[in-house]
Amino acid sequence: MLNIALFGPPGAGKGTQSDFLIKKYNLFYISTGNLLRKELAQNTKLGQQAKNIIEKGGLVSDEIIVQIIEKTIKSNSEVNGFLFDGFPRTYIQAYILEGLMIKLNSSLDSLISIEVSQEESVKRLLERGKTSGRSDDNEIVIKNRLKEYKDKTLPVLNFYKEKGNYIAVNGMQKIPKVTEDIEKIINDRLSKKLLNIVMFGHPGSGRGSLGKALAKKYHLEFIATGEMLDNEIKNNTEIGKQIKEIYDSGDLVPDEIVIPLIEKKLDNTKAKRGFIFKGFPRTLVQSYILDGLLKKHDSYIAKIFDIKVDTLELIRRLDQRSKTNARMPYDSSTERIVKRLQEHEDKTIPVIEKYKETHEVTQINGKPAFTEVLKNISKEIENSFKNLQ
Ligand code: AMP
Repeated sequence: MLNIALFGPPGAGKGTQSDFLIKKYNLFYISTGNLLRKELAQNTKLGQQAKNIIEKGGLVSDEIIVQIIEKTIKSNSEVNGFLFDGFPRTYIQAYILEGLMIKLNSSLDSLISIEVSQEESVKRLLERGKTSGRSDDNEIVIKNRLKEYKDKTLPVLNFYKEKGNYIAVNGMQKIPKVTEDIEKIINDRLSKKLLNIVMFGHPGSGRGSLGKALAKKYHLEFIATGEMLDNEIKNNTEIGKQIKEIYDSGDLVPDEIVIPLIEKKLDNTKAKRGFIFKGFPRTLVQSYILDGLLKKHDSYIAKIFDIKVDTLELIRRLDQRSKTNARMPYDSSTERIVKRLQEHEDKTIPVIEKYKETHEVTQINGKPAFTEVLKNISKEIENSFKNLQ
């Protein structure tokens, strides 16, 4: 997701810039002012509560704002991202936005402040008042709106300055130049954003080879814990020796060994565009660990795929693989294959179910030919991240 808030006094040009940004970055537009005017026009209970305050140029209560924003975000949780205009407008609303973003497993990428002088702001609002039909675009109300801005809204900037995601543009320039400056900020942010994908599916579903191909195509780092552990054994490292002992005893490799390996990989690949995880997380505990690891990098899981292949086909594929050079140590016997399939049923299916509550888990039919499945997943990725490539 890409989430941006446009900030600035009334008349700074937030609405004008939004028109362009929502198209270019395929974002869902949330203007609390527009939402309130809609409630007013429909004469809803919320609208009646807000009417008086809006007409006087005051700020509507945070309680009302939470209700209208939550309603809108909830019914559009599967969009590419949100563009907020006129929100957050108070220090409290900044915290509210943080909470709402956590609910979406996301965060606010940038608060872009369009800066104009007070005189310019008044001039523009009076000009707009001639055609906008907005009763609050008149001299007395404008004065009050600007006072509210100074007293209650400007302090919001400190919140984001401290967080480090505040950035200002000069709103006194011509409209296309302001647009250009905002675009630069967003593109810069996009280029630093990690695209993290988790591949689920039974052993034999193709998640490994698909993950590898996707990693190559989208310049992502492929993280397959099974292979990582195997490499440690092959390289005969200290950890490798421990892993070998555990493998031989038939136990699962403990998280204490797996996590530092993943952590090292995440830390060492700064220039990457993101990660594709395969074979991790495979337990509920690991799913919490992954959230924590990504959070440390100010990131989160952006896309989850579950590759579906029926059981007979899975067994056929695993059996075939066990006879080739591509086999993994764990492919060698029917007993092991069955154990791995069972593990997936018992431990990993609950993880997928957990993610379904917080993420969109995209099911992919893994039965067709490899190239066909790859094409279908790529389509999904490109749809979700039109501008993240
Ligand atoms: P706008 O269209 O953003 O200029 O908003 C018009 C009016 O709606 C403001 O003067 C406020 O009365 C009210 N309003 C809009 N957004 C908010 C908000 N986030 N918090 C409180 N009041 C708001």
